[in-house]
Amino acid sequence: MPHPPFPMHVSVTEAREMLSALLPALGTETVPVAQALGRTLAADLEARVSHPSATESALDGIAARETDTLSASAETPVRLRIAGESRAGVPFDGTVGAGECVRIYTGAPLPAGVDAICPVEELQDDGPEHVLLRRPAFPGDVRPEGGDFRAGEVVMRAGLRLSAPRVALAAALGHARVPVRRRMRVALLSTGDEVIEPGLPLKPGQVYDSNRVGLSAMLQESGCEVIELGHAPDSPASLQAALGAAGGANVLLTSGGVSMGRYDFMRDLLVEHGSVSFWKVRMRPGGPAILGGWNGLPVFGLPGNPVSSLVVFHVIVRPALTGQPVQSLKLRAATPFRGLKDKTAFWRGVIREGEVGDYGAQGSGILRSLSDADALVIVPEGGAVEVGEVVDVVLL
Ligand code: AMP
Ligand code: MG
Repeated sequence: MPHPPFPMHVSVTEAREMLSALLPALGTETVPVAQALGRTLAADLEARVSHPSATESALDGIAARETDTLSASAETPVRLRIAGESRAGVPFDGTVGAGECVRIYTGAPLPAGVDAICPVEELQDDGPEHVLLRRPAFPGDVRPEGGDFRAGEVVMRAGLRLSAPRVALAAALGHARVPVRRRMRVALLSTGDEVIEPGLPLKPGQVYDSNRVGLSAMLQESGCEVIELGHAPDSPASLQAALGAAGGANVLLTSGGVSMGRYDFMRDLLVEHGSVSFWKVRMRPGGPAILGGWNGLPVFGLPGNPVSSLVVFHVIVRPALTGQPVQSLKLRAATPFRGLKDKTAFWRGVIREGEVGDYGAQGSGILRSLSDADALVIVPEGGAVEVGEVVDVVLL
């Protein structure tokens, strides 16, 4: 193919942008907060209440006036009268006077008149109505009203991935439902004559279909809806038949059959009977990826090598499907990392004591490298990383 009629060897960023440009704009919907895990927040979220809603105790103990307790020690305990009790959900509704305290429990509102807490470990009962403090009460053991967030404050920004802590935060802000991007419906197909269902007896030369399982998991984690197309052998007719079953999908995602081999029919199918937006990305692993169109739907063809398919999903496909940018951070290199002249490398790295080192086996067939590694270490085209240099990494 001396002059292919489509771009070849695009950059990772170009690949991501070209895929995004082919995807439909799905709009937004609101869903129950408990079902929002992995989705992309579609609008800013304001706190509907303050948290804590009132100044409250952080400990179990007594609440007193700090000034009444300053002289307390194990040798000379301070004696206070117990005026009542404040517990979570049932506040003490009186005012606490000088020389008095209330029993208080974690999360219980601090009554009027007191400002400090002495923990239960430092208390000793002195008859039914009095208590001895072996230590001064401490104002730092209260949680001030609005210390987490205040009513009306914008706490979460549109575009955030709703991780488990963020789902919890949205609920704490008072949102029973949250606005999210609609789910991308992704039809998923794996290909390859040698690829078989996990659990079946394996003949020599065969391999279990790990890509379909891994990609389906990553799609679900990303808040996408998966339309399972199963697996197709390496023949143009079976690929066409399998892709034809993608009714209702917004995009097709395939694994395998896109590199230079004679049996790489996915690529042929797009080149000869569909359309191609690009073929090959300047990255390793993952170089052979292809983007095109089939029957009016965008198709992203991932390479079959297990590490390649999951890494390309991670750095190109997921951000395009969800609108969630790839999150990277900087770490110092504990080992050198090789650079590639005209490709961005995504080496598997292990993080130890705040530094990232080479995982070791970096072949694109070594699936264990993805499972065992902590991060992808990004080495830009033409660069190489020496020990002690700072590198960009993407957590796995
Ligand atoms: P291909 O991209 O089709 O040339 O496949 C490249 C390599 O990835 C070959 O060694 C395949 O056996 C392997 N492979 C392809 N598809 C899968 C899959 N779904 N699960 C695991 N390995 C695969
Ligand atoms: Mg194949």
